[in-house]
Amino acid sequence: MKEWQTRRWFNSLFSLIRGKNPFNSLSHTPNGSITGYDRIQCDECGSMILLATAIKNEGACAICAKLSVESRQAIKTHRNQIATGDIYHASNNDLLAAKGSDKIMTPDSPWTLEPNFYDGHAATSIDEAIKLAMREPNGYVFLVNDLGENLNFSFTEIYAVCTLQTLGSDSGFYARTPDCLGTQVEARYHAPEACPCCGEGIGWFPSRFHLPRKTAFELLQRLINSKSGSEIWIPTGDYAFTTAGEG
Ligand SMILES: [Zn+2]
Ligand SMILES: [Zn+2]
Repeated sequence: MKEWQTRRWFNSLFSLIRGKNPFNSLSHTPNGSITGYDRIQCDECGSMILLATAIKNEGACAICAKLSVESRQAIKTHRNQIATGDIYHASNNDLLAAKGSDKIMTPDSPWTLEPNFYDGHAATSIDEAIKLAMREPNGYVFLVNDLGENLNFSFTEIYAVCTLQTLGSDSGFYARTPDCLGTQVEARYHAPEACPCCGEGIGWFPSRFHLPRKTAFELLQRLINSKSGSEIWIPTGDYAFTTAGEG
């Protein structure tokens, strides 16, 4: 749970930074000279900030100025990846680290419903849970096995994201097929990430994790029957800076 809590913290902080983006037009004085009240972009997060603040913090807004060098660099990298479009595709390193579905299957440890999430829920079996989910515009399916692994499924009206969290590893895996999204997901169809035990929102999955909803439900059905397909599993890496409709 610790990694998820960290991610939630980062996500709210980043939203806070992005939220402080008034996009004020430059407020020139009548004679056109630049004053300390003019606004420029923060070097790190892109928020519009007072020139005076930027000068004081060497180009950074007040929030970024308090972040560690590593965090500032991570925000910058995230912005660059959006600008270049790299964030919407699996990198070569991602593909090199990918595992085939046969390596992910645990036929001797069948999936069961996440006990806390489904406590008091109408579904009492995985089949029922999936059937009920398919009738909803958006929601989650959370499964566990006796190896301590989590299979997390988050769906919206047209997309779904399927991730696997293995015990003792920092990063999980996401299921990738050739029809994964390769562009920015619209905010209203963006699949959120939630804590498997309570369903509380943690953050947002990157656009490239998004599968067409139908493909994803078929994948889920196959996984619970331990039938592998052509999907590959890619380490999720750090995606704390993804916000709704961006990243
Ligand atoms: Zn900033
Ligand atoms: Zn929880």
